[in-house]
Amino acid sequence: MNAQEILARDDFKKCLAFHGHLCPGLSMGYRAAVAGMAYLNAKERSVDEELVVTTETDACCADAIQVITGCTFGKGNFIYKDYGKTAFTFFNRKTGIGVRIALKFNAFDISNRHFELIGRIKNNTATDNERKEFQSHHARRSKAILEKNIDDLFSISEVSVPIPEKATIEKSQQCIKCNEPVMPSKLNKNKICRGCLESA
Ligand SMILES: [Zn+2]
Ligand SMILES: [Zn+2]
Repeated sequence: MNAQEILARDDFKKCLAFHGHLCPGLSMGYRAAVAGMAYLNAKERSVDEELVVTTETDACCADAIQVITGCTFGKGNFIYKDYGKTAFTFFNRKTGIGVRIALKFNAFDISNRHFELIGRIKNNTATDNERKEFQSHHARRSKAILEKNIDDLFSISEVSVPIPEKATIEKSQQCIKCNEPVMPSKLNKNKICRGCLESA
């Protein structure tokens, strides 16, 4: 599929609506999610906890993964590991199959100029022309990723690590300092919540 066809797809439009902008990260996340779903033979988004994903990044791509797989932060089947890697492991609870999809080194080449422009946008020093230039770099990179051969983008390998446990639901207890309801497993032994401990 070429980039224009993907951009016109409903599932991609949903990713875009959820994330807010088109970017290389969203495109990478979309490609990884679609490949992960295909590998697991998962036909539809996870309504409950049929599928589980662990994400090794909290960057843009993580949003497309949630939209496409239905594994979400709130349902507890989207598990964050702070590794700073564009890598995701998709699991199907029914079949027990898991697959890790990880960005290859040098698969996402960003030019120095593009990187420089990202910096200027971030610290609000970009001129209008530089903003336009940034947008065109960004759109071009995003489309290139959508069209790239999947094997040039990612390593895809079946894993045999245990499937993460289902989300736990605990009856709340009260923090003795702030009096707010808290998951008991997050209270310390003196029944004080992490928020109160941090601000102490
Ligand atoms: Zn983004
Ligand atoms: Zn508290």
